[in-house]
Amino acid sequence: MIILGIESTAHTFGVGIVDSQWKVLANVYDRYTSADKGMIPDEIADHHKQVAEEVLEKALKEAQVMLDSVDQVAYSAGPGLDPALWSGYHFAKDLAARIKKPLVGVNHCCAHLSIGKVWNKLEDPCYLYVSGVNTQIIVSEGGKYHVMGETLDIGLGNMLDKFGRIIGLGFPAGPEIEKLAKNGKYVELPYTVKGMDASFSGLLTKAQQLFAKGVSKEDLCFSLQETAFAMLAEVVERAMAHTGKQELLLVGGVGANKRFCEMLDIMCKERGAVFYKVPVDLAGDQGAMIAWEGFLRKDSYGDVEVKPHWRADEV
Ligand code: AMP
Ligand code: MG
Repeated sequence: MIILGIESTAHTFGVGIVDSQWKVLANVYDRYTSADKGMIPDEIADHHKQVAEEVLEKALKEAQVMLDSVDQVAYSAGPGLDPALWSGYHFAKDLAARIKKPLVGVNHCCAHLSIGKVWNKLEDPCYLYVSGVNTQIIVSEGGKYHVMGETLDIGLGNMLDKFGRIIGLGFPAGPEIEKLAKNGKYVELPYTVKGMDASFSGLLTKAQQLFAKGVSKEDLCFSLQETAFAMLAEVVERAMAHTGKQELLLVGGVGANKRFCEMLDIMCKERGAVFYKVPVDLAGDQGAMIAWEGFLRKDSYGDVEVKPHWRADEV
């Protein structure tokens, strides 16, 4: 069985093609970037419409697959930016109609979890899902995902991107912040953990204030990373202690950060657990994870239009 997956929830328009044995035949994407601003939903939707056909053609060519040998079209139904979701949905719906194959709408967050799990061949890990909008500690219980802890305000990636915009790094800022952090030293920032949840907006405000007072970009990038990553390491360690899980799986775009991975790896080793991540090209948003999730959910979901606020624990 060949499944084609379409991703369009935020900055990325992607087409991935996988088979039912979990072989990635193609994973092509085009990411919206900006030198001076963040994501403007209508601009993102326009971006997706402009690149869609070309990304599809490249993916088919890379996979060496003819469109009519695709057995199912999966798309990211949510959560995400409303206009971006609609652009992906219409493209997927037209495509499925053109080739007369089933259309399956899937949850984007679950797709991140599933691809990390299949890539690492894991049974039942504790998930730390950290992307632009989402920051959640998730476990699977009784056939459903359970969110044990999450951000109380903005996602960690959004916090980094917002700070990046303030200091002139453009979008996405995470990778640039990681580079600047290498030459920084620690300045104190608010560390906000409440039970199993974390909050990032105070951290952002304080960093912005210190930047206005002349503290260097490098020091602030370093301290933002150390503080935010330590907050999540604390909460995820508590989740592992409560559930007795011995495997931690980091997924989502912020999972590309080497320092974050290093901190989580140390935490896991200290408690005799094992830390897993996914390669950079599968960590962020892309279509292969949507195709794989579409295969897993082929009997439970169909055309669900778009669901901008669809949580993993509602699946
Ligand atoms: P996603 O929505 O899962 O594609 O993740 C996108 C988010 O990951 C954006 O907020 C990026 O700034 C962030 N990101 C990407 N690479 C890195 C990195 N190396 N360090 C920190 N954040 C990153
Ligand atoms: Mg994502």
